[in-house]
Amino acid sequence: MTEYAGSCLCKTITFTVTGFSDRVANCHCTMCRKFHGAAFGTLVAVEGLTWLTGLESLQDYVAGNGTVRSFCVRCGASLGFRESGAGIEQIELAIATFDDALPVSVDAQIYTRYKANWCDLLENVPAFSEGRE
Ligand SMILES: [Zn+2]
Ligand SMILES: [Zn+2]
Repeated sequence: MTEYAGSCLCKTITFTVTGFSDRVANCHCTMCRKFHGAAFGTLVAVEGLTWLTGLESLQDYVAGNGTVRSFCVRCGASLGFRESGAGIEQIELAIATFDDALPVSVDAQIYTRYKANWCDLLENVPAFSEGRE
């Protein structure tokens, strides 16, 4: 089985997964922008997630709407997102933390009504003002 490896910036936290959802969205919501320190965050649901090292350095931040955002306490890397009340096994990972090439690509741009004016949307990728079903 193919494994795909990921890590935070300082490599304290490392993990592997065995598969991905085919839904990979660039999220332009204000919380993703702030949390990732970027024009958008890109998150993906995964299969077969195994935390290899550093799970004790993964810290949660609960945002105002109850969603949970996880980051490395050593380097500050943004690692993931999960819905309010969801367990760590339901985390959607920040896809940019993977070190390997991945068999998926961005298929949507969501919450574009919150998009920064200094960043243009991708052409040829469907855009949604809010989330998508
Ligand atoms: Zn780190
Ligand atoms: Zn978002």
